[in-house]
Amino acid sequence: MTTSDTRDDVIATIVAAYAARPDVTPDQIVELLAKLKRELRAEAAPAPAPEAAAPTEEKPRPALPIDEAVTRDKVYCLCCGKGFKMLKRHLGAEHGLTEADYRRLFDLPEDMPLVAPSYSEKKADYAKKAGFGKYAREAVPSGRTAGAAQGESAC
Ligand SMILES: [Zn+2]
Repeated sequence: MTTSDTRDDVIATIVAAYAARPDVTPDQIVELLAKLKRELRAEAAPAPAPEAAAPTEEKPRPALPIDEAVTRDKVYCLCCGKGFKMLKRHLGAEHGLTEADYRRLFDLPEDMPLVAPSYSEKKADYAKKAGFGKYAREAVPSGRTAGAAQGESAC
């Protein structure tokens, strides 16, 4: 309020001084007044808000720091903070996320493991021993593990 009073005073003073000149027409005074108001208002107004103010919808905050989300034996779900040997199934079942969704959601680097390192080592080891690649294409019936022999003793 004070600001606008002051501004109006300034305008009035300038316009009055201008109007006092003998060679000024009423139109010119009106024009000057309009111009002063426009300019002073623009000057007083705060800088225009940057385009598209930051959206209020933010990415979810991870349940724990990302650099603590992977330990040797467990990976922790950043959505709920629970620890697992591997996250994939949990993400799908609990959060309806694929691993790719999950990485995008938390800006995880591509090389961030979603399987506990010790588990993937064991699995790789096991897969090597068991010739797991052979079974990978067929869906393994639930409850059975790839260890169920197929009667192939050749290897
Ligand atoms: Zn979770």
